Amino acid sequence: MFKAIYLTKSEDGKTLAQIKDMNLTELPLVDGGVTVDIEFSTINFKDGLAITGKSPVVRKFPMVPGIDFCGKVQESKNANWKVGDEVILNGWGVGESHWGGLSQVARVSGDWLIAKPQALSSQECMSIGTAGYTAMLCVLALERNGVHPDSGEILVTGASGGVGSFAISILSALGYQVVASTGKKDEYAFLIDLGAKEVIERSLLSEAGKPLQKERWAGVVDTVGSHTLANACASTKYGGVVTACGLAGGMDLPLTVAPFILRGVSLIGVDSVMASKAVRENAWARLAKDLKPSVISQIAKVVSLRDAINVAEDILKGSIKGRVVVNVNQ
Ligand code: NDP
Repeated sequence: MFKAIYLTKSEDGKTLAQIKDMNLTELPLVDGGVTVDIEFSTINFKDGLAITGKSPVVRKFPMVPGIDFCGKVQESKNANWKVGDEVILNGWGVGESHWGGLSQVARVSGDWLIAKPQALSSQECMSIGTAGYTAMLCVLALERNGVHPDSGEILVTGASGGVGSFAISILSALGYQVVASTGKKDEYAFLIDLGAKEVIERSLLSEAGKPLQKERWAGVVDTVGSHTLANACASTKYGGVVTACGLAGGMDLPLTVAPFILRGVSLIGVDSVMASKAVRENAWARLAKDLKPSVISQIAKVVSLRDAINVAEDILKGSIKGRVVVNVNQ
C-alpha cells in the first residue's frame, strides 16, 4: 500500500483532492515501465492549477498530480534502469495525463527518467525541481544566443517565484548583473541575498507600455508573459535576447514587431516538459555545477503530502516565496 494525492471530478465539474491509500496494482501499466519509490516531489504553478482545478491541465480523471519527483527504482522493465538507481523526472505530461509525483510510488516510462546527479541529494534535486531546471534552460538559451556576463544587465521577472529565484541564483553565480522584478515589497532583501544587484517594482512592467522603450536589458528571463513580456522586449538592448517560459501574469502577448525588426531582439521560447534527454542531462549537470548548496536550501521549504493540497491554493495567489518541496513520506 502507498499514499498519494488523488484527484477526481465531481458531477458539477469541480476537482476534488484527497489523500488516498492505494495498492501497487492500481498504478498504470506502462510498456518498458519503471516503478519508483518517491522521496521528494514539489508544488509547481501547474500542480496548483491541477489540484484546484482552476485550469484544465488535467487531461483525464482520476489523476495523481505532481509534475516532478526524485526517488529510487523499486522495479524496472527498462534495460537502462535497475533496482536502487536514483532518478529524477520532470514533465513529459506526468501529473497531467499520466499519474505523477505527489505520491509515495509512481510508475512511468523509463525513457522519461534521468539519473540524479551525484553531487546533489534527492531533497536538493526537488528543491531545484522543474522550476530550477527551467531557469537553467533559460540561462542556457541566453548563453547559446551570445549573452555573457559582460553583455549587460539581465532582467528576471516573477523574481520571487520558483523559476525566478533560481534564475537569479544561477545568473549571479555565473557573474551576471541581475535586476529582479517583483510584486512583493517584503521580499527585496531575499532577492538581493540571492544575488540580484537591484530590485524593481512589478508594476513598472505589468501595465501596457510603448512599443519601443529606453534600451536597458542585454537579456531577460520572463516567467510572467502578457504586458510584462511585451515591455521586457520593448526595453531590451540592440541584439539582446529575451527568454519566455511562463504565464504567471497572463497568456496573451500584446506586442509589436518593433523590437525585433528595429533592434534585432530575439525572443526565445523555453519548454521544459518535452525537452530531449540530452538537453535535460546537460541542464541538470550545469545545476549541480553552478548552484551553491546554501542557495538551494535558502530557496526551498519542505511540507508534507497532506499540506501540499493547501499550498496548491497559495501558489496560484502568487503568495509563495521560492519553492515548496513535498516530503511524500511525511
Ligand atoms: P511561482 O508561482 O513560484 O512564481 C510565479 C511568480 O510570478 C510569483 O511568485 C510572482 O512573483 C509572479 N506573479 C504572480 N502573479 C503575477 C501577476 N499577475 N503578474 C505578474 N507577476 C505575477 O511559479 P513558477 O516560478 O514555478 O513558474 C512561473 C511560470 O513559469 C508559471 O507560469 C509556470 O507555469 C511557468 N513554467 C513554465 C515551464 C516551462 O517549461 N515553460 C516550467 C516551469 C514553470 P513576484 O511576486 O516576485 O512578482
